[in-house]
This record gives sequence, structure tokens and C-alpha cells, in this order.
Amino acid sequence: MGNLGLDCRRPATRDPVMRLSRYFLPTLKETPAEAQIVSHRLMLRAGMIRQASAGIYSWLPLGFRVLKKIEQIVREEMDAAGCQEILMPTIQPAELWKETGRSEDYGPEMLRIRDRHEREMLYGPTNEDMITDIFRESVRSYRDLPKNLYHIQWKFRDEIRPRFGVMRCCEFLMKDAYSFDMDLEGARRSYNIMFVSYLRTYARMGLKAIPMQAETGPIGGDLSHEFIVLADTGETGVYAEQVLLERDPREEEIDFEADLEPVVRSWTERYAATDEKHDPAKCPVPADELVEARGIEVGQIFYFGTEYAEPMNCYVTGPGGEKKLIHGGSYGIGVSRLVGAIIEASHDEAGIVWPDAVAPFAAGIVNLKSGDEACDAAAEDLYRKLTDAGVEVLYDDRDERAGVKFAEMDLIGLPWQLVVGPRGVEAGHVELKRRATGEKRELAPDQALSEIIDSVP
Ligand code: ATP
Ligand code: MG
Repeated sequence: MGNLGLDCRRPATRDPVMRLSRYFLPTLKETPAEAQIVSHRLMLRAGMIRQASAGIYSWLPLGFRVLKKIEQIVREEMDAAGCQEILMPTIQPAELWKETGRSEDYGPEMLRIRDRHEREMLYGPTNEDMITDIFRESVRSYRDLPKNLYHIQWKFRDEIRPRFGVMRCCEFLMKDAYSFDMDLEGARRSYNIMFVSYLRTYARMGLKAIPMQAETGPIGGDLSHEFIVLADTGETGVYAEQVLLERDPREEEIDFEADLEPVVRSWTERYAATDEKHDPAKCPVPADELVEARGIEVGQIFYFGTEYAEPMNCYVTGPGGEKKLIHGGSYGIGVSRLVGAIIEASHDEAGIVWPDAVAPFAAGIVNLKSGDEACDAAAEDLYRKLTDAGVEVLYDDRDERAGVKFAEMDLIGLPWQLVVGPRGVEAGHVELKRRATGEKRELAPDQALSEIIDSVP
């Protein structure tokens, strides 16, 4: 197995050095004609993904690292909110979907498959039916509630118009969680926990995601919010009160054991709606406090009540021995879409500008004179020290022109660049560049190293 660079500080590989001369980074100089939005262009140019067919992509090493980082943040925040990770299959039996009547509701978006025994199967676009089946087989008593189970798994939706790279794919990675409660009150608590957890999850990735009232669509139910990141290329029109954009969930202490209703209310009492829900005639916010923008849906949460429990006979025994239908909710995050959404929110003319928390590597080392003994030794020393400190580094050791190296480093957007050249080595310093600001400083190597090490999340 390859080292995904998540937790393994000392990978036992043949050569731990991530050298660009060996790394699989098929960057493109030309802007691909098929890519309409900046994240799609940059992901192709930075060698992160490769299209297999319309709406279906392979993830190459650089892209895969980012995907895994995002996945890991989602996982940590779900675990922190008391959810438990499972893994359900991608292929599901159609019977379950017939039980709930959703087989028809989903229509041609669902990829239907027959196996060699002519059994009807499908590639899961979501998992409410399957998780309800698991739950009804395993849970009997109200004492087993509440529960929230989630998985991070590939989904397939035969989108009519796959486009914008990983933003609207047929095959995409989603985190989907499912809550089970005895009654509306409990379900509301579970919903609130997810609402607050989502705000923290996106904020950790350096994103501002605003919760908005939403239509519930084929999943059903009557309480739902979409989490939307503002970007000009977003597919959804949104209207939100300015104050919502100024709020930072990371600055707020949250106790998941406490009643979260006041926190949720403090968000939902402010106006925020997608164009499906927005009615200019009824909007209470004065024009100068209302932001009209476009946005990308990066997650959605639903309370759907007994909608699945009823057709699937999912009951528990209540405290008085009575049978009670389970109240459910489902909570999705578009893990692979987030890679594109983060780039839409964070880039410049030169390329991607990764937020520290999701960067594929924290730093890149640019050796301006590969083959020169002093430069090689200095670059190698920086590399070793960073690696020993647990920092992920990509070392450009190629025999290339400086201009090419700088352009590629900017394109792939690592938060820090350490530039090692003959003049600096002689004078005893390296150049440290912060990608986000472009700020460059000449520093003693140890000082540059400690700045990088201190910044790693
Ligand atoms: P959309 O309205 O964008 O089609 P949806 O409402 O159908 O999405 P959900 O069922 O809410 O999607 O799925 C949860 C999350 O999965 C979405 O918020 C989105 O971030 C992501 N997602 C949905 N469809 C796609 C897709 N075709 N490609 C990539 N990500 C997707
Ligand atoms: Mg949705």
C-alpha cells in the first residue's frame, strides 16, 4: 500500500523523499479547452485528475492527497459529533428501493444493473433504504437510540449534464450520515448536532459555508438546509444577510451534549435562501443588507421523519412496550465536490492557493541548481528536517529552468515555498515564500523551517 501521508510520519518506503523527478505530476501548460470553470482548468493543469469518461474521473497523486485530507477532516468532525463510521457497498439490491417506492422516483438518474442471475441491482446514489434495512434488522429497543451512522463512499448519479469537472460528476465521493431517533424531539436534536458540526467542518477547510433553507427533493421530508459556498461559478442563485458572511464558527465554543437549538436558531433566524425558496416580495431584509450571489452546494441535511421507517417497518419498542416508528434524518457532504469548491474559493492567476488544512503538501522545496553539490546538500537538509518534524514536503530536484519550477510551484499552490539557490546557500540563507500573499523573505534555514513547522495544522 502507498503512504497517503495522513498520519504516517515515518513511512517505511524505499526512499521517503518526495522528489518531483520521481513524482507522478502530469501538469499541462495549455489550458484545456473543455474546462469551463477555473477549478476544472486548474485541476487538469495541476495534474490532479484525469477524465475517464463524461463525469467520471481518476484521481492522480496530487489530487488524491487533497481528497484524502478533506475526507479526513469530515471524518474527524463526524466522530467528534458522536457519529460512528461504517462502510456500505456501492452496489445495492433493487428490492430495497422497491420497498420504499424510490426505485421509480429516482428515474433515469439511477444506474440500474443486472447481475448474471438477472437480479436487479443498482449503483447507489444514496443509502437511506439500505441503512434503514440494516437498522430494522439490528435495533429493537428505544434504549439503543439515538444513533448516527455514516460512511464515506462513492456514489453514482447518471447526471443529465455532467460538467465542471469534479463539481457535477456521475461518480463522486460523498459522506452520508443517517440518524435514528424515537421521536421528533430526538430527531431535532440529531439534526441540530449535524447542523453545527457542518459549520465547523467547512470552516476547518478554510471555507465559508452558509446554511440555507432548501427544498427536500426526492429524499422527502419537511426540514432541510443546504450548505452553500459562495463562488461566481456556482450553479445556485443565493440570497443571504450580510452578517452571515462575517461569522466564523471556529471562534465559537460548542458542547454537543448541550442544547444546540439556540446556536442553530442564531443562524436560521437570519435570512438565507436559495433561488428556489427566495421570494423577493416576502424577503424581510433591506436591500443594502442582502447579498445576492451564486453558490456551490457542498452539503445538505434533511429530517425526513418516518418516511422510510413506515414502508420498511422499522420499529423499536418504546419505554411502555409500545411499537414506535423510527424518526430519521440524512446528512450529506460532497467530499469530491469540495476539492473543486475550495479551488473556486481560493486561487489566483498563477494557480491554486491551498488553505493549510487541505494542502497536498505543506511546503515545496525548489532547488534552483540541481546537481550543484552545495545546493543539493542544503535542499536535502531542509527536506530531512521537515520530514523528521512530520511536515509533508514536495522537493523539486529536477534539472529544469527556474522559471518552469516557479510556475509549477505556484500552479500546484502549496502554502510554503522554500527556494534554495547558490547565492543564498553561500550567504547562509534560503528564501521563504508564502503562496497566499506572495510575501518573500530571506531567512536562516532554521528560522524558515520553524515558521513552516509552526504553521502546520
Ligand atoms: P445537486 O442539487 O447539486 O444536484 P443534490 O441536492 O442532488 O445535489 P444531495 O443528495 O444533497 O445532492 O447530496 C449531498 C451532497 O453531495 C451535495 O450537497 C453535493 O455536495 C454532493 N453532490 C451531489 N450530486 C453531486 C454530483 N453530481 N457531483 C458531485 N457532487 C455531488
Ligand atoms: Mg442537495
